[in-house]
Amino acid sequence: MKKITIAKGDGIGPEIMDATLRIITAAGAEIEIEEIEVGEKVYLSGNTAGIAPSAWDSIRNTKVFLKAPITTPQGGGYKSLNVTTRKFLGLYANVRPCKSLHPFVRTKHPEMDVVIIRENEEDLYAGIEHQQTDEVVQCLKVISRPGCERIVRYAFEYAKQYGRKKVTCFTKDNIMKQTDGLFHQVFDEIAAEYPEIENEHWIIDIGAAKLADTPEAFDVIVMPNLYGDVLSDVAAQIAGSVGLAGSANIGETCAMFEAIHGSAPRRAGQNMANPSGLLQGAILMLNHIGQNHVAEKVQNAWLKTIEDGIHTYDIFKEGISKQKVGTKEFADAVIANLGKRPSQLPSVTYENGRSINIPKYQRKAQAKKDLLGVDVFVQWPGTDPAELAEKVKAIAHEGVKLSMITNRGIKVWPDGFSETFCTDHWRCRFKTDNDRVMNKEEIIALLTKATQNNIDTIKTENLYAFNGQPAFSLGQGQ
Ligand code: NAD
Repeated sequence: MKKITIAKGDGIGPEIMDATLRIITAAGAEIEIEEIEVGEKVYLSGNTAGIAPSAWDSIRNTKVFLKAPITTPQGGGYKSLNVTTRKFLGLYANVRPCKSLHPFVRTKHPEMDVVIIRENEEDLYAGIEHQQTDEVVQCLKVISRPGCERIVRYAFEYAKQYGRKKVTCFTKDNIMKQTDGLFHQVFDEIAAEYPEIENEHWIIDIGAAKLADTPEAFDVIVMPNLYGDVLSDVAAQIAGSVGLAGSANIGETCAMFEAIHGSAPRRAGQNMANPSGLLQGAILMLNHIGQNHVAEKVQNAWLKTIEDGIHTYDIFKEGISKQKVGTKEFADAVIANLGKRPSQLPSVTYENGRSINIPKYQRKAQAKKDLLGVDVFVQWPGTDPAELAEKVKAIAHEGVKLSMITNRGIKVWPDGFSETFCTDHWRCRFKTDNDRVMNKEEIIALLTKATQNNIDTIKTENLYAFNGQPAFSLGQGQ
């Protein structure tokens, strides 16, 4: 018996949760349920996180959380419970299977069967944003080696567990050579450990176009957070089944399972909602806790029910559907089909007792790190980079030189173009002569001199070489 935590959520949440639990219990799921309250009521009681401390205790104790959709109240101050849960519990992997149910649910892509595995914690979602000058704001894109290793390994382990043939990686490393470059590099390293699984990398723009046009060319796709956020919705939508998709959020110790849709408050309490999205989440959960045979039984009964044309209003189509049913009746039909397999849609087989376990990250030996210079960012209202260069050259000292100035990443000094548009946000790169290793006092000396000379410094970034390899981008055009 596995203890799990559930939350019935808001809107249609309680109805679809009841239907889901009824189905999986009838299928023989060995679960003991602990219910917690999250969402609208908790938010409106003055808890801006939408979850009480005792509810965290339950999730951290059972380590498995099946969550119905919740309503985030309108207005400022309320934090997204999903984002909070992912981050607090370290749920690094978001898994979203997107499979066509053609011809029973309309889609332009009858062969589509893609699983999107999205990194869930890092990237631009680290939420580190600053306004730096009157004209410029920035958001830090944070990508870590442990983050990349875990998500990429999860994707390959997922492929192995579910008998998938290929893992594709999407990044934009032709532009972001450090951040997306690390993701791609780790992908190549880990792919080599799984020779039985095909691997490939696509630049995200053409990859996304191909996914939207020919999704059947892909199997499992792994990608950083922002791309995954966008493309997992695209994939669910073009599979024709956005209301039918579930997702898993997996961490080292805890995991959360849910439908991808929201609480549909206008449909609440009318026995109308389709419980399939949450049921798909529950199937991912049963596989996660090693009750694979139960997951298999439920999935096949669900496919049979869809194939029988027993449909809730949202997917009901004259000519295809046979019977329009409510939430409860749909659940009854799935229960009646337990033990049966679909005849037209492919049935599934899951190997029992299998769950995906990723080894803990092993920190590598520290690299030799040499400081070779510093980028000093300044706010300056002028327009002629040569004028700024004269001012900032004056803050350099023996053995350190101004090597370039960029504006929004493009080199404007030396040898800039007068056509380049400049904002008030300038990066002045100081480097040591002949790559001499610099010490941090030299940075302080630069900043002290800048302050004395009325230069408005707004931030610095150190320029390092790791094991002798310079690890910072050049200026565009440098
Ligand atoms: P929604 O997904 O709730 O609804 C969008 C549309 O899809 C509606 O027309 C609805 O009737 C329909 N729909 C959704 N799920 C359905 C189902 N199971 N069966 C039949 N029809 C279904 O999105 P929304 O209207 O933008 O958001 C409503 C609320 O849900 C908001 O408060 C939002 O913050 C919240 N929300 C929560 C989650 C979550 O908890 N994970 C996710 C998204 C939105």
